[in-house]
Amino acid sequence: MIPITKPVLGEEEVEAVRQVIACGWLTQGPRVEAFEKAVASYVGARYAVACSSCTTALHLALIILNVGPGDEVIVPSMSYIASANAVRYVGARPVFAEIDPQTFNLDPDDVERRLTPRTRAIMLVHQMGVPCDIDAFLEIGRHRGVRIFEDAACALGSRYKGRSIGATTQLACFSFHPRKVICTGDGGMVTTNDASFAERLRLLRQHGMSISDTKRHEARRVMIEEYPCLGYNYRMTDLQAAVGIEQMKRLDGLLAQRRGLAARYRELLVDVAEIELPHVPEYADVNYQAYAIRLRASCSMSRNDVMQRLLDAGISSRRGIMTAHREPAYTAAYGPQSLPITEEASDRSLLLPLFPEMTKEQQDHVVTVLRSLFVRS
Ligand SMILES: *Cc1c(COP(=O)(O)O)cnc(C)c1O
Repeated sequence: MIPITKPVLGEEEVEAVRQVIACGWLTQGPRVEAFEKAVASYVGARYAVACSSCTTALHLALIILNVGPGDEVIVPSMSYIASANAVRYVGARPVFAEIDPQTFNLDPDDVERRLTPRTRAIMLVHQMGVPCDIDAFLEIGRHRGVRIFEDAACALGSRYKGRSIGATTQLACFSFHPRKVICTGDGGMVTTNDASFAERLRLLRQHGMSISDTKRHEARRVMIEEYPCLGYNYRMTDLQAAVGIEQMKRLDGLLAQRRGLAARYRELLVDVAEIELPHVPEYADVNYQAYAIRLRASCSMSRNDVMQRLLDAGISSRRGIMTAHREPAYTAAYGPQSLPITEEASDRSLLLPLFPEMTKEQQDHVVTVLRSLFVRS
C-alpha cells in the first residue's frame, strides 16, 4: 500500500527523545526554547512561540488581536475545519469568502465584498503550502483597518516574493502534525516580529503565569508567580521540541525531495487532458505539503470513482480540502450557505501520495494507474 504521506523520523529523533527522558525535564523547557529559535531564524521572524498545536496557536493569535464576541473574521471555508473553529473559540463569527479556483486560496475581491463594519481580521490560509497573495490582503487591511494574520499550518518552507512565510504579517501560525512538512506528533508555533505579542503569547500559553516553571526551577531566590490574565495550558513539551529540533535540521532536504517529486508528477501527468495539475503563482515558492489534482469538467469519472480505482491498485488518496460551511457543526450554527466556487474546487479535487521518501517506483505506479483511467492506449 502506498500511503498518502509519511513523516521522516530516524535515529536522530530517537536519540534526542532519549536525552530528554534521561535529563528528566519533560514539559516545556530548554528544548522548546531551542526549537523556537530554530524556527524563528529559519523563517526570518524575530520571535517564535511554541504551542500544543496550530489550532491552539490560532486561538491565541485571535486573542492577541483582540477579536471577540460581536466581531467577524473572514476565513476560507475550504480549509481544515480548525481554521474556522478557532474564530468561534473567541466568540467571533467566521465569515466565509470564496477562493481563487486556481490556487485554492482566498480571493481578495470576494474578501472585500464580505467586509462589514464588524470585520476585525482576515485569516490567510496558505492551502497545501501555496502562499496567498499576501500583499493584496495587506493592502485591504491598511485601507479598511482590518488585521491580517496567517494560518500557515501547511506552509513552513514556502516563500512569497522571496520572503519566507512566517515573517510578513503580524502573526503566523504553523503546525507540526504528521500531515505537514515536519512533525512533532502534535505541535504548533506562532511567529511574530512584535515583542509585546510574543510576551503575551508566552503568558497565555502557560496558564497566564507571570514566571515560567523553568525560571522558578532555576531561581536561587524564592519566586512567587502571579496570574494577571486568564490563560490556557497550550504548552508544547520538551519531548516534542526535541523531535522538532531534529526535524528542522532535515527541513531543507525534505523540501528538496518534495519539490523533486512534484516536478516529476508534473512531467509525467501534464499531457493528461482530464486532470489539472497544481497551479503555482509566479510570486510563490511552494513546499508541496500536499499534491492536489483537479478533475476537469471533461472528465467523465467521478472523484470518488478515481479514488476507489487508486485504492484498488494499492494507492491511498484523499479527497481535496474539505469545506467547513457544509459540515453540521456549521450548518447547525449558521444555517445553509452557498459558496459555488469553493464547493466545486473541493468536490472535484483529490490528493495524491507525496512524501519525501516516496520512491520513483511508487510514483511510477501512481502515474501508471492514473493514466490508465484516462489515456487510451
Ligand atoms: C492541519 C491544519 C490545521 C490544524 O493544525 P493542528 O496542528 O493539527 O492543530 C489548521 N489549519 C490548516 C490549514 C491545516 O492544514
